[in-house]
Amino acid sequence: MQDCIFCKISKGEIPCDKIYEDEISLAFLDINPVNLGHALVIPKEHFQNIYDLPENIAAHLIKIAKKIGTALKKIGSDGTNITTNNGEAAGQIIFHSHIHVIPRFINDNLSHWPTKKYKEGEVKKIIEKITQAL
Ligand code: AMP
Ligand code: ZN
Repeated sequence: MQDCIFCKISKGEIPCDKIYEDEISLAFLDINPVNLGHALVIPKEHFQNIYDLPENIAAHLIKIAKKIGTALKKIGSDGTNITTNNGEAAGQIIFHSHIHVIPRFINDNLSHWPTKKYKEGEVKKIIEKITQAL
């Protein structure tokens, strides 16, 4: 993809703070970290997001995210958020698939997502819809 910033990083056309690389994936520090050590794991090949990511590559990326999360724990994080934003509505800004690995610390004061409550009958309906779509 010509104008994709992560493709450019993957090809070495623009720099990144690399922490891991193999044939399929690359991991580097997020330029605007939520906490220090916040990393992104990307496939070297361009895929927009989880919807068009082949399963074998998705499996590889999660394996690397786990490896980096474990390293972050070893160097002192109390926890990690391993997450991926898919689509504009989910806050995706860079449309080259990536996994965030965010180190978390007790009392780091990052807020939780707000939650909703199910109304009568809504659980059954949503289960039906999801299972039919699977
Ligand atoms: P999102 O698409 O919402 O999952 O977020 C994209 C992430 O990429 C953001 O957290 C940005 O800070 C990060 N980002 C954007 N450009 C760069 C870059 N050149 N190097 C490292 N991280 C970047
Ligand atoms: Zn790309």
